[in-house]
Amino acid sequence: MRHKPIIIAGPCAAESQEQIDIAIREATKRDVDFLRVNLWKPRTKPGFEGLGEKGLSLLVRTAQAGVNPGLEVIMPEHAALVMDTVLPHLKRDGKLLLWIGARNQNHIVQREIARLAARDPRVVLMVKNQPWVSQDHWEGIIGHVLSAGLSKENLLNCHRGFAPSGSNPSGLRNIPDHDMAMSIKETTGVPVIFDPSHTGGNVPNVFRVAEVASAYDINGIIIEVHHDPAHALTDQKQQITWPEFDMLMETMSQKTLALQL
Ligand code: PEP
Ligand code: MN
Repeated sequence: MRHKPIIIAGPCAAESQEQIDIAIREATKRDVDFLRVNLWKPRTKPGFEGLGEKGLSLLVRTAQAGVNPGLEVIMPEHAALVMDTVLPHLKRDGKLLLWIGARNQNHIVQREIARLAARDPRVVLMVKNQPWVSQDHWEGIIGHVLSAGLSKENLLNCHRGFAPSGSNPSGLRNIPDHDMAMSIKETTGVPVIFDPSHTGGNVPNVFRVAEVASAYDINGIIIEVHHDPAHALTDQKQQITWPEFDMLMETMSQKTLALQL
């Protein structure tokens, strides 16, 4: 990360007011651009799907504390509801991050979410790459959201790796392709945010993939941080603690500095 990186950090899912209050406190002490306050979770099997609308007050609490909230929106209705609820509470220069997750590969939904996001310049939209390997499809997601009138200045492209096929000797949850991510960055001019959490899948791997990613011209990271990962309701194995977040940032900046020398 050669320039001031964009840092998106916080729990996989918002679980309680206590958890988000701790996250707001920890984020405020650090250089965090957006705090994950994630209300809607796509799940492989039925289970905790996030607080949904019940958690909207946590987004407001975050914005009122002067911290920029960020979350996945699965449906255009989510984007509209979140924008209506949160934007009036943003502090001066405050921003709201919405993202479209890896599994949400319906271009009509993608475009409609982007159309709503484009209505307010304080909204930043991030798109995550689809789970299967295809540069064409990934570029297509960016094409769809831009076709809705969203400005490139308000768009981020998230690289979260591709689902492994076959035996997967890497042990990673998803396999990164930094060359593809860099090629898309070059052709589209959209900044690339790397996701070490959903690529790594467990804490040692999160550190390993983040360090490797530092060698590429990424523009930031989105990372899952929980004050008590062992009791997290989702993605327990890959969430790091705030002290671990500090270590990770230190490792990544050292690696980047070393590359620059
Ligand atoms: C997430 O970032 O919360 C998430 C579910 O990741 P992905 O969409 O990349 O699987
Ligand atoms: Mn997660």
